[in-house]
Parts: sequence; C-alpha cells; structure tokens
Amino acid sequence: SAEMDAQYRAALTEALLAGHAALEAGGDALDAVEAAIRPMEDSSLFNSGRGAVLNDEGEVELDASIMSGAGGQAGAVAGARTPRHPITLARRVMAESPHVLFAGEGADRFAAHHDLEIMEPSWFVTPRRSRRLKRMKAQDAAATADLASHPVDDKFGTVGCVALDGDGHLAAGTSTGGMARKAFGRVGDSPIIGAGTWAADATCAVSCTGHGEFFIRLAIAHQLHARMLHGGQSLPRAAQE
Ligand code: ASP
Repeated sequence: SAEMDAQYRAALTEALLAGHAALEAGGDALDAVEAAIRPMEDSSLFNSGRGAVLNDEGEVELDASIMSGAGGQAGAVAGARTPRHPITLARRVMAESPHVLFAGEGADRFAAHHDLEIMEPSWFVTPRRSRRLKRMKAQDAAATADLASHPVDDKFGTVGCVALDGDGHLAAGTSTGGMARKAFGRVGDSPIIGAGTWAADATCAVSCTGHGEFFIRLAIAHQLHARMLHGGQSLPRAAQE
C-alpha cells in the first residue's frame, strides 16, 4: 500500500543517514555498515532483528555477517535468538575473537559474555510475521515447500549494506531472519562469508538477498569478487553472468 511504501522509504532513509553520519563522524566503512543496518534491525518492517520472519516452529533465528575489504577480517553469527543487533554481534565476533562464525547457543552466549544488548526471544516476534506463518501453514504444504512458488512478500526484507569510506576501504554486511517457515536450525547464505557477504578493497563489496541455498552452492558473493579479480570482469558483467 502507499502507506507501507512511505514507511519503507522513511526507514531506508533513516538507515542511509545513519551510515552517512558514521562516515561524517570519521568512522570507517565498517562503522557505516553497522550504523546503517542497526536501525533496520530495530524496524519491524524488515526481515532482520525484531520483525524477522519466523521459522516453522514460530521462532526467530537470526543470521548476520560483516566483512572488511581492507584486511579481509570477517565475523558472523547463525541461528542467534537473543541479540537485539545481530550485525553488532557479528562485528564483535570479528573484532574480539579469533573466530569467524558462532552458531546457535554459542552465538547467544558470546553476545551475553560481551555485554551486548540481549532480548527475550519473544521480543523479536511480531503479529505480522505470526499471521504470515499461520497463513503459510494453512496453504498447501507442497506449494510452500517449492522454492519457486514462494510468495512474493517473503522474498524481500533481508537487510544489507555496502560502504566505501574516505580512505578507499570497502565493507559489507548482511542481517536476516532467513526464509519464512524455514526448518529449525536451517542456516542461509547471509552468515556464510563468500556466499551472502564479501568485501575486498581490490574489487567489490557485496550483500546478497534471495534464496540462500543457491547463493551458498555457487559462493555467489565471492564469485563476483573472483570474476573481477581473476577474470577482469566489470561488476555488472560478473553479476549478470
Ligand atoms: N538470503 C536469505 C536466506 O536465505 C533470505 C533473504 O535474502 O531474504 O536466509
């Protein structure tokens, strides 16, 4: 509706301005990516943070990742249930652990141990997503299991951001609840570095959205980078091919 259209535009503008403000305050590309994604995680309009889509059991499982194009450092979380800002958690994994990816309870524990803002799992569940899940369950199970016939309004809403800072450094980040009615424990491309997120100063910064299984199988985000780096392709050509 026109009303929702206006709400989405306002929320996207807020995100862009937050990213821009981070750069203007002297932040780097990573700061901008995190700053832009956080308000979208708080907005129930998007499939990330509060208002993320629900899994088959009516719960939210959050995936996020962030990568620096300057040094190739990356952090990610999969299937987290409590961090208010999964993108911030992903960044802390990158900055404050020797690891790249924490999953499930490990991600939630990392958030708690590093004093990140933690919410009850039920805080993330909105009436809109609950209604949607109910409708999906009422539909023919065979139809909903077929990826190609996934309803259009479930194909949008994952949030991503790429940024280029004044020093020429790139960064990329992605945050999502994954696919609506996903099986418990299913992990998509968004927290898989090289599948849903990639950044390298020499080539590009990428945040993907779509059916994660395809992005994982083809290592899409990294493949764009590789086509540019090794094949000399332009970004539009790499993306098209
Ligand atoms: N790529 C995400 C996933 O498969 C979903 C999305 O982009 O909407 O988890």
